[in-house]
Amino acid sequence: MSEGRCKVCTHAQRGLIDQDIAGGMNNSQTAEKWGLSRDSVRRHRIAHLSPALKGVLTRRESAGAVRALDRLEDLHVKASAILDAAMEDGKPSLSLAAIRELKGLTELLARITGELDERPQVQVLNVVSDPAWVEARTRLLAALRPYPEAAQAAALALGVADE
Ligand SMILES: [Zn+2]
Repeated sequence: MSEGRCKVCTHAQRGLIDQDIAGGMNNSQTAEKWGLSRDSVRRHRIAHLSPALKGVLTRRESAGAVRALDRLEDLHVKASAILDAAMEDGKPSLSLAAIRELKGLTELLARITGELDERPQVQVLNVVSDPAWVEARTRLLAALRPYPEAAQAAALALGVADE
């Protein structure tokens, strides 16, 4: 769609709309506030926003991603501590719960930091080869060795069961 036909570009308040978008307002909120369709706002955001405003937007989005990343890494540290304690105390079910949380957190972290492709098969391969993950998995399976049933369940859950 050319700028001439864009409902946002031709809007009498285009400048204010652009400021809202650059200020972090999402497509739905912007559309609702200015009586536009979400598609119009989305297309305009992608194709017509001035380079300066796009720069503002990009910096804002990466700052948001960094904060989310900090929180996730904090959770990862806590879950790791729980896993360590559970393994020391010989609590296989708690260890398993912690490892499940760690697996999800590891995947999410990797996705945010761009280490993961969104394609499911590649995603699994990348997580499986992540050094931190491999180490956690190895420690868990070692700790579960005295508990064959739990070890088997863990191996199945982690996708490393012997066929
Ligand atoms: Zn536009």
